[in-house]
Amino acid sequence: MTLADPTTRALTIDDVERLRDDFPILRERVNGHPLAYLDSGATSQRPRAVIDAEVDFALHYNSAVHRGAHTLAAEATDLFENARTTVASFVGVDHDEIVWTSNATEGLNLVAYAMSNASAGRGGEAAERFRLGAGDEIVVTEMEHHANLVPWQELAARTGASLRVIPLTDDGALDLAEAANVIGDRTRLVCFTHVSNVLGTVNPVERLTALAHAAGALVVLDACQSAPHRPLDLRALDVDFAAFSGHKMLGPTGVGVLYGRAELLDALPPFLTGGSMITTVTLDHAEYLPAPQRFEAGTQRVSQAIGLAAAVGYLDAVGLERIHDWEFSLGQRLVTGLADIPGIRVLGPGPGEDRAGLASFVVDDVHAHDVGQYLDELGIAVRVGHHCAQPLHRRYGITATTRASAYLYSTPDEVDAFLNAVADVRPFFG
Ligand code: PLP
Repeated sequence: MTLADPTTRALTIDDVERLRDDFPILRERVNGHPLAYLDSGATSQRPRAVIDAEVDFALHYNSAVHRGAHTLAAEATDLFENARTTVASFVGVDHDEIVWTSNATEGLNLVAYAMSNASAGRGGEAAERFRLGAGDEIVVTEMEHHANLVPWQELAARTGASLRVIPLTDDGALDLAEAANVIGDRTRLVCFTHVSNVLGTVNPVERLTALAHAAGALVVLDACQSAPHRPLDLRALDVDFAAFSGHKMLGPTGVGVLYGRAELLDALPPFLTGGSMITTVTLDHAEYLPAPQRFEAGTQRVSQAIGLAAAVGYLDAVGLERIHDWEFSLGQRLVTGLADIPGIRVLGPGPGEDRAGLASFVVDDVHAHDVGQYLDELGIAVRVGHHCAQPLHRRYGITATTRASAYLYSTPDEVDAFLNAVADVRPFFG
């Protein structure tokens, strides 16, 4: 970390230029142009500190955790568990409330499969509150990433519960009046994203959580697009479960996090079973370890977890408030700049509203894939397609959008290069 003055309230362009030196990949050239990486919403880039943490583990500590009797295994176990503590405190919860997963998708599936195991009678009396059946309702929203939609469709299909949906308004917000109708006596589970990966909308977590809890339902928060970008206190938000992915927050791929409130994780039956999650096994029966080990079957993603802890350390050193504010200003620049270009329709909240540092848009008469290819020729990396949110796109009568997403290392110059290129798209394909 090479910030000039880490006590400065706001990040300056000088800070960001210095911080970019920590990210070797940002010096790449693509198609003869300096890379302008505006696809961090899909996967973020890694600073040297994260790469070094993984390499250091591979060079000096590599071994299986929680198993060996030798020194390396003990050191690896300490690093692995310390990484869990680091990530837990990053989101305001306790060490044992953090379960390592491969990514957010696996974390969400873990809850869904554990609940269907409970619904099939596993987990004894303690698992009663996870049992679903005909007449029970699972509530999702129309803006969900498929990772926070399909697992609940499947859970409903396995248990006989039904799915209810909180609809979207025309300007990309959740219809909160409808939310109050949809969430009711039959609701057992409310699953929603904190921040939309397409619209940039920031959802009112406390309000939705209060509605869910008043109905006696559990809350599952998809924090994939919030944990990397804004201070997150899961305890204060009072959610029951939350999931996020390491690769979207400067960390490695292959590691994600599931948070579960301690008493819930303690009562939840396992999803994956096998080695490392048991106390006693006979030929016809197994006893399980307490959480979080009960949910971590098999050999774990050790270097990735350590890399994620290094990523979290990096984010903390820069400061999540400052990262949020920097990205907010880039997001505003994106949205206002796009709105000024003829023939562009931006999805989601307008300028001035709290929205993430990303913008998804449609260009009249030009397919998103063509837009993406045109930008790529200029070294500008964006995402195109449905961004794993087909129902959301269908709601707005479109099949695909182009999305530019910024992070702490993105600059106003990159946003301007992107806006200038987008302004040329229609004339080019005209
Ligand atoms: N939820 C949201 C809001 C996302 O943006 C993503 C990734 O794009 C996911 C869930 C799934 O993340 P992963 O593919 O890392 O499991």
